[in-house]
Amino acid sequence: MTDIPEKGTIPVAGVVPLTTVDYPGRLALVVFTQGCPWRCGYCHNTDLWPIGQTTSWRWQHVCDLLDERRGFLQAVVFSGGEPTLHKNLATAMQDVRKKNLLVGLHTAGIFPDRLVRLLPWLNWVGLDIKAPFDKRYVQITGDNNSALGVQASLRILQISKIPFQLRTTVGAGALSEPDFAELCQQLRRLGAPEPLRQNVRPPQSKITL
Ligand code: SF4
Repeated sequence: MTDIPEKGTIPVAGVVPLTTVDYPGRLALVVFTQGCPWRCGYCHNTDLWPIGQTTSWRWQHVCDLLDERRGFLQAVVFSGGEPTLHKNLATAMQDVRKKNLLVGLHTAGIFPDRLVRLLPWLNWVGLDIKAPFDKRYVQITGDNNSALGVQASLRILQISKIPFQLRTTVGAGALSEPDFAELCQQLRRLGAPEPLRQNVRPPQSKITL
C-alpha cells in the first residue's frame, strides 16, 4: 500500500512491532524512518537511504498500533535511516509521550543541533560511534564533517541527564579490531562510556505495508 505522505509527520518505512533488545530492559516497538545522508559501507538498511522517498506507513498507522497494544508495550524507539533528519520527529515523540510510553532514539549523531531540541522528549539514546574521531570517520560515512558532528552529539549527551549507550560496529566495511581498541581509549579520555561492540548485521526484518 502506498499513501501520499502526510504533512507534519515523519516518513515511516516500517516497524518492528515488538523487541526486547532495542531499548534496554523494556518491551519496545521500533519505528524505522526513511532517509539517511551517510553511506556507511556496512549499512544493513540501505533501502532506507533515499531521502524524500514516499513510504508505505502513515504516522497515524503507528499511533493506531500503539493504541491497540496499550498496556503491553513500554517504549517506542525511533530508528532509521537517521530519524533526526526529520523536523517533525519532536511532534511524533510528543505523541508517544502522551500515550505514557518511553521514547528511545537510535541516531548516528549527524545533527547535534537537532539532537539538542529533542532532549525534552527523550528517555534513552543509543548513539552510534563509527570510528576514532579522525579521517577514519570519513572513510566509513563518506561525509567530511561527520567526526565533528558526532563529537558534538556525544558532548550533548554527556551533559544531559538522559541515559545513553554508545554502540560501535566492528567488521567488514566497518571498524577493524585495532581501530576499535583505539576508539575505546579515545572515548575513555573523553570521559565517555565504553561502546557496546556490535558485529556487522544482515538487514533487519521489519513490517512494511
Ligand atoms: S548512518 Fe546508519 S542508516 Fe545511515 S548509512 Fe550509516 S549505518 Fe546506514
